[in-house]
Amino acid sequence: MKFRLPDFRISLRTRFALGLGAVLLPFLAAAALGQFYLLPRLVEPLEDIVRELSEEMYPVTRLQTALFQVAMPVNDYLVHGDADERRQFAQLRQRVERAFEEAPPERYTLAEERALIRAARAEWDQALPLGEQLLRLSDPVGNAAAARDMERFDAHIDRAVSMLDEAHHHFHQVLDQDRAQAGVSRSRILGATFAAFVLAGAVSLFTGVALARSVTDPVDTLRQGAARLAEGKLSHRVDIHRHDELGELAAAFNAMAGRIEADQAALAELASRDGLTGLYNHRTFYVLLGDELARAKRFQRPVSLLLLDIDHFKRVNDTHGHLAGDAALRELCELLRREARAVDRVCRYGGEEITLILPETDIEAAVRLAERLRAAVEAQPFDVGTGAPPHMTVSIGAASWPAHADNAEALVAAADAALYAAKRGGRNRVARYEPESAQPAALE
Ligand code: GH3
Ligand code: MG
Ligand code: MG
Repeated sequence: MKFRLPDFRISLRTRFALGLGAVLLPFLAAAALGQFYLLPRLVEPLEDIVRELSEEMYPVTRLQTALFQVAMPVNDYLVHGDADERRQFAQLRQRVERAFEEAPPERYTLAEERALIRAARAEWDQALPLGEQLLRLSDPVGNAAAARDMERFDAHIDRAVSMLDEAHHHFHQVLDQDRAQAGVSRSRILGATFAAFVLAGAVSLFTGVALARSVTDPVDTLRQGAARLAEGKLSHRVDIHRHDELGELAAAFNAMAGRIEADQAALAELASRDGLTGLYNHRTFYVLLGDELARAKRFQRPVSLLLLDIDHFKRVNDTHGHLAGDAALRELCELLRREARAVDRVCRYGGEEITLILPETDIEAAVRLAERLRAAVEAQPFDVGTGAPPHMTVSIGAASWPAHADNAEALVAAADAALYAAKRGGRNRVARYEPESAQPAALE
């Protein structure tokens, strides 16, 4: 399929600028899509993971650490009985309380997580009075009852820590889900980005090719047109109808070709005619006769030739002057052209000798036509503007193909011989070619 950009009535310069924009635009659109739509969707799930980690997981980790630490001064007190452990416990207990405040159950997504944190809190609530009670003892070292309470205290703390471990486990499940989701959306987005760039590439390629073609096709047509013109095919025109510089170039090219063709035809016409009478000249006469004979031979049809000479034309010149002679000759030629048939070719052979090529005409018809011409000339008063109009007559020799000759020169010679016979016979007459009357064509 040959794609053509529609003719938008825009200049080549604008077309190129728009084309460049159309090539770049899909890529800019794809980049903008990535930047403002796809990238945020890629980052969001990762941000969710980070937020969950910092908001949910770290407070629980801190809480676990605080719980581990708070058990230590109580245990140490039972071993060493150092009263300073009370102060440490008070500090660490504050830390545990703060850690619980930073991990309120309602912040957590899963019900299991909330329940576990509440349960850990309950364990702590039970451990705390036990711990305080142990630290108040005055004889902690080697105290068997205290050792049993210590075990209960440690058991509460251990349960609280292991419940928080379980909460961690749930976190990991949620994080794994988030990660999986992030992976899915990442592959989706990578796919979408790839598709967007492939589409952008396709649109750019299509636009680029269409743009290039909208220029190279008409340039190619013009190049071929110029080549045809250079070969001499002057009737060739380029078929480009556009409203840009190439359209103007094509219109100018066609106008130029039209001018050259018309000038050439005018020159050819000028070169084929005789300047004084407007009849075909001597050279064209032989071309036309050659053509007619070829056609006559091809279709086996007769063709005749009349050779006409003005009688005593010298006298017209001598009496009225050469300008009057020219006018008389011109008038006589007009008369012959009028009287001849449309298909007949009237030529000036030279001087005051006129030839008529008569296609599809045998010798009988040719003689009849010659007689009509002779009578018309005789009857015509020639107005040459000076003195009494000259009375002019003509002698005509007639010959035919194939009856009297088989080529152009022989046919002219036969008509010439007949003309000579007509002159000899007294002028103002028509003579047909007779073989026995053939004489050298020297007219008197
Ligand atoms: P005929 O043919 O009857 O024997 O007599 P003619 O006087 O016509 O014969 P000739 O061939 O001797 O003379 C032809 C004359 O035609 C000579 C020349 O002055 C004249 N002629 C030929 N061409 C032209 C022309 O173009 N203009 C003028 N004014 N005269 C021409
Ligand atoms: Mg003459
Ligand atoms: Mg003559």
